[in-house]
Order: sequence, then C-alpha cells, then structure tokens
Amino acid sequence: MHELILIIEDEPQIARLARDYLAKNGFRVLVAGDGVSGLAAARRESPDLVLLDLLLPGLDGREVCRRLRAESAVPILMLTALAEDSDQIVGLELGADDYLTKPFSPAVLVARVRAALRRVGTPVERGVDGGNRRWRRGPLTLDEGAHTAVLDGRPLRLTPNEFRLLVALARHAGQTLSREQLLDELHGPDAADLPGFDRSVDSHVKNLRRKLEVAGGDPGLIETVYAVGYRLTAGE
Ligand code: CA
Repeated sequence: MHELILIIEDEPQIARLARDYLAKNGFRVLVAGDGVSGLAAARRESPDLVLLDLLLPGLDGREVCRRLRAESAVPILMLTALAEDSDQIVGLELGADDYLTKPFSPAVLVARVRAALRRVGTPVERGVDGGNRRWRRGPLTLDEGAHTAVLDGRPLRLTPNEFRLLVALARHAGQTLSREQLLDELHGPDAADLPGFDRSVDSHVKNLRRKLEVAGGDPGLIETVYAVGYRLTAGE
C-alpha cells in the first residue's frame, strides 16, 4: 500500500523535510509550492491525504482547504506556523481533519498522517469485497464512500440514481452495459422485468450527459451503443 501524499507548502526546507521523511516511510509524495498549483495537483492526482500549509502565497491554505472540502473527502492535515488556538480552530472549521504546529518532529508528522489515513481506511478497506471504491476515469473521479463525482476538478451534483449509474459505467469503463445491467445497479435484479423501467435508464443518462456538459465536459463520455446500451469512453 503506497498511499499518495500531497504536500502543499511554500517553505522549501519544511516541504523537503516532510517529503523525505514520508518517502522513507513508504509513502509516495508530491510537493506543490503554492495554493493554486496544490489545488490543481489535488484535482489531477487524487491523493490519499493532503498536508496543507495554512499560510501560502496567492491562494492561502484556508481557501485551498475550503475548495478541496467542497469537492472531495480527502483527509486534510493542516500545518500551522503558530500554536495559536484560533489558527487551529479555523483549520478544523474549514474541514481539515487534524493540524500540526510548526516546527514539528518528522516522527510526529508520520504518526499523524498514519492516524488520519487509518480513520478513513485504506482504499482496500473502504471497498466492498476488497475492491477499490474510488474510480478515476479520464477527467472523472468518483468516490463511492464520499458519494462525490468530480469532473476536471468541478463537482457534479448528481441524484443518487445518476451517481450509481455513473459508478456502474466507470467500474466497467470501455465495456458496453445493457439497460438491464444498468437497471440491476439501480433497482436490484428484478427491476428489469417491470414494464417501462428500461426507459428510466435512458432518462438518467440524458440527465447525466447534460450535467457533464454544464460542467464543461464532453457529453460523449457516455456513449450510446445502438440496440445494446451504454458505455463510458474515458479511461479505457
Ligand atoms: Ca507558509
């Protein structure tokens, strides 16, 4: 299990210390030196945890935290320069999972990172039947645990049925799923026998395509396979 940690920290020495120590402890590590590139990296790489400095040039840590939290359930560990309660409370109010006051000992950092990851569970632990419940398909990231769908960093507001349908397509990206298979996902194995139900798949797909388009995506991500069903074209 090599979990990916994204460090967003503008002080090179601290970033290097954290990076080296985390890498030595078996984590994969990415470093971003400011809020804007950090947010972009978080959206692009879907890290397992974000180590986020509170005081950053440009987009500061509070704003990065707020935006990250609006679109993902990734654990966020805030780094604060001051031991002032207000800083820590601000971080936690913004949705950070924990905070660490600088200067910190590398051993404490690793312990806190491990604790935060344990609380959310490893990808395998989060899954059903040992499967990973987070799907990344091209511009799409779906997190079944957090029930979030993100397209190129923009959250999609989906109904539970639309979300389940998209997850089913993502799970089998590149393969065509019949309306019956998609109905099973939505309503259980007996639903396909009910008259009129197969049309509900069509209307969910129509709505999904519209939402993808509104979010700046390609509605053709969900392809109609004539007389068969649908398939997700991203991430084949
Ligand atoms: Ca800083």
